[in-house]
Amino acid sequence: KYESQNLKKYMEEFLPPSILNLLRLLGDYGNEQNVNVYVVGGFVRDLLLAIKSKQQNDKNTKKFLFMDYDIDIVVEAEALTFGRYAAKQLNAKYVEHEKFHTCSLFYRISHKIIRIDIATARTEYYEEAGELPTVEFSTIKKDLARRDFTINAMAIKLNPESFGILLDFFNSRKDLDEKQIRILHPLSFIEDPTRVLRAIRFEQRFGFEIEPYTLNKLIEAVEGKYLEKVTGMRLREEFEKILNEPEPLKAIERMGNLNIISHLFEKTYYTPTLQKELEKLFQVIDFFNNNLKSYTKNVRIFHVVLYVLVQYTPVESLKRVVQRYGLPKDYISKLQQVNSLYEEINDLIKESFGKQYKDIFKPSFFYERCSSLDNEQLIFMATKIPDDILSYFYNYLKKLDELTLLISGKDLLKKGYKGKEIKIKLEEIKKKLLDDEIKPGEELSLI
Ligand code: ATP
Repeated sequence: KYESQNLKKYMEEFLPPSILNLLRLLGDYGNEQNVNVYVVGGFVRDLLLAIKSKQQNDKNTKKFLFMDYDIDIVVEAEALTFGRYAAKQLNAKYVEHEKFHTCSLFYRISHKIIRIDIATARTEYYEEAGELPTVEFSTIKKDLARRDFTINAMAIKLNPESFGILLDFFNSRKDLDEKQIRILHPLSFIEDPTRVLRAIRFEQRFGFEIEPYTLNKLIEAVEGKYLEKVTGMRLREEFEKILNEPEPLKAIERMGNLNIISHLFEKTYYTPTLQKELEKLFQVIDFFNNNLKSYTKNVRIFHVVLYVLVQYTPVESLKRVVQRYGLPKDYISKLQQVNSLYEEINDLIKESFGKQYKDIFKPSFFYERCSSLDNEQLIFMATKIPDDILSYFYNYLKKLDELTLLISGKDLLKKGYKGKEIKIKLEEIKKKLLDDEIKPGEELSLI
């Protein structure tokens, strides 16, 4: 039993005209090629969320609308044939993904490139005993039944005579209204354990809740060590998607509380300390983005979040984690480098005996110890440094960033400095400038 409703009116109201037009064209090509064409998944979900939030006078309506303009299309026919035809008609760039038997179109609308993924409705699922074959929609229905959650398992038909008809076979709309994340069949998480992470992501993004039965099944899959059966790369991909959400912290916390973290990263236990440090990390990242932008170059958030998560993990386990998730070879030694620096700072604080922090933690102090750290390490360092020292560290970074030397190695060479002496002299000058012992320009008189 499925509900069908025509959303045409809403699509006209909510979609940018260019997107609406594109969907109409895809439907037309369907008729020209004699195939049924549907838009599915996140696009449909987000459209319905936008409609609902408008009806409830929520000012966030726009938020749900096509944040990235990815459009997932399913055809009840050979995807590649249809894709090639549509690409030609639209004059879009056509890319085939042979392995998955899908294709993507890249279609330019003014200055935006819209990605359209096209797949064949998959039919590898057998009908259940006693279920009547529903001829008209059986193929799209089976395709939708293979998806992760009910909220992602709706389709809108695009062929002209039925343009806008919503196909909701699994009470998806009800779950959207009631804010529930629900799997479509009991073995869903066993079949594809990456859905564990997807459930968390959608739950946090929309402020929904994983409904009790689904949550039980999720926990069963986690405790049954099914995450361990998935390749690190697939898990990393889903984990990174979580980190790219606007508020990843709550999702990580949820994963910690559901014991997912320990099953992703062996011998890593999610503790209140760890949670506090993660909170700090995200504050630090914000600070870097707003005030120390030049230090965010080449920073992979996955790497820094993992620094925090695995900092107390035993090395033997850590080695396997590094291997599993394709982390850089020197990842552990870089982590340890920051850890020992942190120890040193802690010892200095304990032994400071009334000496002022500003005299201990001068810019040159950090320069001597941190100039070889990469940006990911600096962010982790800022997370670890005690709060009352942090401003000195930030001050160092800011000064280093603004530092300009009026002399170079060449000048020193001309003055008769040799080899190593040049480097030593330059460092000495830099430290003096950082500590304000000399003013910019005064270095010329030092050589
Ligand atoms: P987003 O807004 O983050 O892009 P999305 O729902 O479009 O969300 P995608 O990862 O792009 O997410 O997936 C597109 C669609 O493919 C989903 O809506 C879902 O129907 C289906 N899907 C993706 N991954 C899985 C999976 N692991 N198992 C089942 N279905 C999946």
